[in-house]
Amino acid sequence: MKFPVLKTFTRSLWVLCLLCGSVGSFALDREAFSLTNYDLNLLVDSEQHRLGARGKVTLRNDTSTPQPVAVLQISSSLNWRAVKVGDKPLQFLAQPFASDIDHTGGLSEAIVTLPQPVAPHATVNLDIAYEGVIELDATRLTRINTPEDAAKSSDWDQIAPNFTAVRGAGYVAWYPIATDVANLSEDDSLFEVLARWKVREAASTVHVKFELTRDSGDRPQDLVVNEASCVVFREEISRAQHITSDCTFQPLRWVIPSFVIADYGVVDRHSITVLNLPRHAVAAEAYADAGERLVPLISDWFGSSREKVRIADLADPDDAPFESGALLLTSLANPDSTHAGLVVAHQLTHASFSSPRPWIDEGLAHFAQALYLEHEKGRQVALDYMGAHRSALSQTEASDLPRSEVATDNSLVNTLNEEFYRGKAMCVWWMLRDMVGDAALKRAIAAYRPEQDKDPSYMPRLIASQTQRDLEWFFDDWVYRDHGLPDFRAESAFPRKAMSNSFLLAVTVENLGSAGAEVPLTVRFSGGQVTKRLEVRAKDKATIRIETPAAPEEVVVNDGSVPESGAASHTYKIEAPKE
Ligand SMILES: [Zn+2]
Repeated sequence: MKFPVLKTFTRSLWVLCLLCGSVGSFALDREAFSLTNYDLNLLVDSEQHRLGARGKVTLRNDTSTPQPVAVLQISSSLNWRAVKVGDKPLQFLAQPFASDIDHTGGLSEAIVTLPQPVAPHATVNLDIAYEGVIELDATRLTRINTPEDAAKSSDWDQIAPNFTAVRGAGYVAWYPIATDVANLSEDDSLFEVLARWKVREAASTVHVKFELTRDSGDRPQDLVVNEASCVVFREEISRAQHITSDCTFQPLRWVIPSFVIADYGVVDRHSITVLNLPRHAVAAEAYADAGERLVPLISDWFGSSREKVRIADLADPDDAPFESGALLLTSLANPDSTHAGLVVAHQLTHASFSSPRPWIDEGLAHFAQALYLEHEKGRQVALDYMGAHRSALSQTEASDLPRSEVATDNSLVNTLNEEFYRGKAMCVWWMLRDMVGDAALKRAIAAYRPEQDKDPSYMPRLIASQTQRDLEWFFDDWVYRDHGLPDFRAESAFPRKAMSNSFLLAVTVENLGSAGAEVPLTVRFSGGQVTKRLEVRAKDKATIRIETPAAPEEVVVNDGSVPESGAASHTYKIEAPKE
């Protein structure tokens, strides 16, 4: 386990001493317990920015030693009211705990003395109550000098009269969590703490009943939760609107329970529902139209939809999009149909196909965006789109760390870095498709079963089984390990006149990088061009002979489909062949 930063450690000692009398000497292990079950009743008062929660949680001791104390954490803007076992109130110490896992940069901890130590792997049920406010707060970002506007576009969560949107763990701890300190000024600290938490919670069940009351004179609002099975009830009780929603996330998987309360218009089509703020009604139609138009392309690649895509509007055009479970939150301020198509292609893919592995789940959803662009605007537009990710990727790959250290951590199968499991994975899927062909890759995707994905090699094996080619070197360079990017140079290009009025160009390509790839070579001649593909392994050379009907004039190594550490394509002029 990662050692907490100094200030937290001294605080832990302080807590330790306060509890010495009651529980004896122990080291506080904040991640000793996982919360395996939540059953919460949530009262939301948007006028007052308030949230009140009451309910039960089940804690499981994940350590090999009995645990006398449990730590429960909620956002620092919320306060603990009670912790009980059945009717019996438990002694607990409430204290602030600085951690960037919450938008406020802090948590309210309850350090609970359990009635008796909980044995390894055993569980304990606690009744809990807490309440407080959730207001716009970007402290964790502004205190590390993020400009205020950018910080608020990222941490936009709040309960407010006109628009409420609150995301869970990693944004706002509106339900209890149990985590070590996360510190945004340390490189991957927040990602690591959050990733550990998500792994521990993946099999947990979260049942939440939301309750919201408004004056009957107010405009009615919708309550939207990122779980498709939620049931929403509305009724008028003594001149008040009463809205409730009953939601069960079972299991949680990677979903971050989140809720939105807003005055939404609805555009509902067969495959997609778009919830828009009144000023974005036109854009909502564009998204819904894109959804219907893209269904054939996406289902051809990824199978038919398992669920309906839901997209809900955000209040500010600058608010960063957020996707979790069956819901995408994104501002619909941009009515551009290509933008809508990109967004919808991504979400439709999630609705058709899912994987517990981010490089497959997110990688394919981004790959689908490139497929959509190719389908509507041609291959070059798709390559240009991927090019925007490639430049960020080249920078991310240019790490100062020794390659051996980053090779395993940053491999696609292990990485927590979004640039890798989104941008790099998209390029990897595109290269695989170029290498094995559409039909073979579609068959591999169709054969994939998320519940059978117990080993990182499962998907690579499905792809390998659809082709005669040896792809092991490719998976090793790009998927199992991070060998960086290729770096191609045309070492030589010799043309000569062949017998039957044609020309033969021998091109030797050198790859100076540590990752191999199959790179396209395009030879241009008067009146046309011809493209061939050449496999060039890492730190190696390969030669290909390409026949052209007229004298070759130039050769382009890489059309941009293979990410490189240097320039993404290279053009070489060819001198007239000797007779
Ligand atoms: Zn996604």
